Amino acid sequence: MNHSAEINADVIVVGLGPVGAVMANMLGRYGLRVLVIDQGSEIYKLPRAISFDHDALRILQSAGVQDGEFATVAIPQVQYHSPMFGRFIRMNTAKKIDDHPMIVTFYQPEFEALMRKKLTDLPNVDIRLNTTLKGIQDDGEVVHASVQTENQSWQTVRARFLIGTDGASSAVRNFLNIEFAGQSYSQDWLIVDATRVSMPIDHIEFLCDPQRPTPHMVAPGGRQRWEFMLQPSETREMMESKDNIRKLLSKWDRLENIEIERTAVYRFHALLAASFSKGRCFLAGDAAHVTPPFAGQGLVTGLRDVANLSWKMAWVTRGHAKAEILSSYSEERRPHAKKIINLARNLGSVIMPSNRVKAFFIHGLIRAIRMLPAGRAFFDDVKIKPENTFSQGLFARRSGSVYLRPGSSFPQYMVRQIPNGQVIRSDDLMGPFFSLIGFGSDPLKHLHPNLLLQWQKIGGTVINWCSSEYTKPLDSDSHRIESLGGDGFPGHAPDGWAVIVRPDRCVFTEGPSEFSDELVSEALSLITSKNCRS
Ligand SMILES: Cc1cc2nc3c(=O)[nH]c(=O)nc-3n(C[C@H](O)[C@H](O)[C@H](O)COP(=O)(O)OP(=O)(O)OC[C@H]3O[C@@H](n4cnc5c(N)ncnc54)[C@H](O)[C@@H]3O)c2cc1C
Repeated sequence: MNHSAEINADVIVVGLGPVGAVMANMLGRYGLRVLVIDQGSEIYKLPRAISFDHDALRILQSAGVQDGEFATVAIPQVQYHSPMFGRFIRMNTAKKIDDHPMIVTFYQPEFEALMRKKLTDLPNVDIRLNTTLKGIQDDGEVVHASVQTENQSWQTVRARFLIGTDGASSAVRNFLNIEFAGQSYSQDWLIVDATRVSMPIDHIEFLCDPQRPTPHMVAPGGRQRWEFMLQPSETREMMESKDNIRKLLSKWDRLENIEIERTAVYRFHALLAASFSKGRCFLAGDAAHVTPPFAGQGLVTGLRDVANLSWKMAWVTRGHAKAEILSSYSEERRPHAKKIINLARNLGSVIMPSNRVKAFFIHGLIRAIRMLPAGRAFFDDVKIKPENTFSQGLFARRSGSVYLRPGSSFPQYMVRQIPNGQVIRSDDLMGPFFSLIGFGSDPLKHLHPNLLLQWQKIGGTVINWCSSEYTKPLDSDSHRIESLGGDGFPGHAPDGWAVIVRPDRCVFTEGPSEFSDELVSEALSLITSKNCRS
């Protein structure tokens, strides 16, 4: 059956929350025709996500967000306080990773407004608000989505793929009949965002008192946030009353001084979809995973989904890759999302121990672990957070892979372009492409012209990452760069090493530069030919 005349878009994105908005931006920047629908007309205004990590900021960089385009506050420390032991964890988050601060806080409505505004600059992205998904039919070639529009009329829209970014109660997930299992906490939490607090704070702190666990943090615009766990005897209405908030905040300031900006009461969940895809339909963001906010990773996890799925969908739609590569999305993303949920659950038991005895043991144990250098590093250097590394998926692990592990994240450096001397972030230089990078040697010297042509045809570039001693101009078409300030090569790779990096900066494969022909052939066969998967 030929549906091409009926197709309205390459991809339908269902849900214009933060994940849908970034997804539509990425797909739109890749040049796909995107239809994005949302049942609402407005950005969600109640307090939710407040912190991003360096991973999220790096993904937003690739979605075209410049530093400073939305307000952030860099967080130098995350502290945990015990009623018995005082400050028992102090995470040092003052560093940068991949040239982004380890943690920043932000104001979600401002961020979402920015992402929506950016969509209006993309003529290939069509936004329909007040439009609700009511059904999906996937015939194996095309997805038919039934939608109900503002004036209650019904329409069927068709696309090659559909992505459900429609949040925790995802209709897409329900239509696909994908199980969503895990744990729901029995406590409610009151979230309070306020301004004009006279006691300033520059960090994030968790007051891990079993009586009233309370995360507290600074945010842009002079804001501070508190999250208070409700006792079983307390109702939502009681908690949100002005008198109650006055009582709760009296420890920090008098309510006459403070301006309460917004409040909400939530129950937290730790839920994971059994699969992140079915046929031509995909889940991303809260539709695929919901995590309690103790690690500040819910939205960040959704953004990692976006980075992973968007390029694969673009490559398949353009005909640069076989459709089978899309199965690696769930294969790669689901195990990592599960690890993040487990991290948040573990932090939950540190932050909200159910009684003083448990608090004594958990906080005391962590305090003891931190007395050992390795234990201190685990907590203080935030090694507690699982790395964004895959054990299975779309990459080729060769024997002798030692410096940049395939399936791991390729770091971002500041680099100097040769010969013009311009200093640039390496991701910006690499752009939305596959990159074959040779360290200290030009991979083009080892790449057959026919392979180079095929490489370029599927969106591959070649970069010669020169050592700082480099002086004489090379006779080559590859991009030439060098690390700044005497930094060595990523992963401490030696001269003569090469790596292939995917458009989402996941390491695809590595090996000696002289084997560039082999590295590229392997990549081409895994990405483009049928029946050839890692
Ligand atoms: C208190 C709290 C604090 C948090 N703090 C952090 C944090 O610091 N850092 C962090 O990373 N994360 C945090 N999170 C998690 C984060 O807020 C969520 O992960 C994120 O907002 C989810 O975004 P989403 O786009 O996946 O879903 P949503 O924001 O829920 O968006 C879904 C969209 O889909 C639309 N929709 C739903 N059904 C349909 C349908 N049938 N048809 C059309 N449209 C539909 C909805 O209208 C909505 O616009 C926190 C969450 C809470 C509750």
